[in-house]
Amino acid sequence: MNLISNETLQPFDFVLFGGTGDLAIRKLIPALYFRHCEGQLPDDGQIISIGRTGYGTSEYRQMLDDKVREHIEDKEFDAQSWQEFLERVHYCSIDVTSVASYAPLAELLKGRDDHVRVFYLSVAPDLFNAVTHGVHASGLITENSRVTLEKPLGRDQATAEQINDNLAAVFKESQIYRIDHYLGKETVQNLLALRFGNALFEPLWRNDRINDVQITIAESLGVEGRGAFYDETGALRDMVQNHLLQLLVIIAMEPPASIDPDAVRDEKIKVLRALKPLVGIDAIENSVRGQYKAGAYSSGPVPGYLDDKDVADESNTETFVALKAEIGSWRWEGVPFYLRTGKRMESKTTEIVINFKKVPHSIFDTADGFNTPNQLIIRLQPQESIRMRIYVKAWGDDIQLQPVYLNLDFNDVFQKRKLIAYERLLLDVIRGNPTLFMRRDEVAAAWAWIDPIRAAWEQYQYPTRGYTAGTWGPSAANALISKDGLRWNED
Ligand code: NAP
Repeated sequence: MNLISNETLQPFDFVLFGGTGDLAIRKLIPALYFRHCEGQLPDDGQIISIGRTGYGTSEYRQMLDDKVREHIEDKEFDAQSWQEFLERVHYCSIDVTSVASYAPLAELLKGRDDHVRVFYLSVAPDLFNAVTHGVHASGLITENSRVTLEKPLGRDQATAEQINDNLAAVFKESQIYRIDHYLGKETVQNLLALRFGNALFEPLWRNDRINDVQITIAESLGVEGRGAFYDETGALRDMVQNHLLQLLVIIAMEPPASIDPDAVRDEKIKVLRALKPLVGIDAIENSVRGQYKAGAYSSGPVPGYLDDKDVADESNTETFVALKAEIGSWRWEGVPFYLRTGKRMESKTTEIVINFKKVPHSIFDTADGFNTPNQLIIRLQPQESIRMRIYVKAWGDDIQLQPVYLNLDFNDVFQKRKLIAYERLLLDVIRGNPTLFMRRDEVAAAWAWIDPIRAAWEQYQYPTRGYTAGTWGPSAANALISKDGLRWNED
């Protein structure tokens, strides 16, 4: 899949709603800068940032100069390229809820209808409808326009449908790019390459060879100034509905007929639709909710979730979720997929662990611990790697089995700067490749699986279990998996 090639893009206008926000400063502007440095942005490619803050363009550029710099490593920074990049950037102060205030944007876009035009919505989801209406009512949507939306897309299926309906009224589905930045990660795409570029794995990739799959997205950070947003959202909506389900889908999907965007997405949605519903007491028995309490890391103590000034005193919002999911299909029947995500966990780790079945009959003494299966461990964070655990005989007189790892560390293999996920995705929007973006029916299917879980939590007033910051979550999450005689991979 050649998604980042060295080709130069068509002339474009990249309109960045939320250009003064955290995501723009930490990820989106650096991503565009890196692509500028690679010579991939055409001379006539401009970035128009939008926010309410009353900057002029030169003040905005100065703000970027002050704030973005710390998110670009010294060895990646080139002062001259940065200054050239800033020349591409313009700023308009607009309140997106007021159509009248779009006039300066219209002025900057005047006479440029033949350019690719991207509206990138890096604003809170409750502003998606306002921006859609604003750009439409201001006559800014052209044939060459695309709109990109940040997650979360809605709060549930009904609100997601409403946003999608509003989008569909003014954009064609082919113009809509729903982003899940996990799909921009190198290792996620490598999963597709691993599965569908090697004949080796396919015969093993099924229920008679795989015992269980574990997917963990653990963050060591807390809510960090996003308490108000997070308290209304929780980990199920913030992480499971999108990132965790997308990883599950890529592990579980059938081989697509081609790498065409719709061929891939047609297979992905079949997995979402085959997820066995977790409804009522089933949802309670197969899920754990947690909330972090004060704790400590080697860097020092950290406060609990309820200590955040923007979080309600008695909040029962989950900062941790563990789930046992099952897929009703010939390939996956009987294979549990354990999903977990949390804030303030022991370390920042994202990994997928495929646990294969044990040998049917062991001829070796098992007293040496040879009781655990082969594993394929795909790590997305902190360093991107693929490891396979196999058993060998340890050197020496005795036959002693010992686990060793076949290790593929992407940094060692490629020895190139690792692309940040957004670099690939932003370029794909400009060049019009939707493979790594979610189609409307995918988003709806993901919410359709998530909503009954949340409904059951409400119906049964399912409490959050406390866990100490800096640990792997509440003990109930261990109990969830140990019911099946398993344990989370925490090596
Ligand atoms: P943020 O720091 O709160 O920034 C919000 C942006 O929206 C600011 O630029 C703000 O501009 C602008 N804005 C708010 N109201 C506006 C209005 N009425 N008119 C025009 N602009 C308005 O949020 P963020 O963290 O960057 O997140 C942006 C989106 O990305 C959200 O949907 C979030 O869920 C999603 N997201 C964020 C992250 C992340 O790491 N931050 C990760 C994944 C997804 P002014 O302040 O100048 O008014």
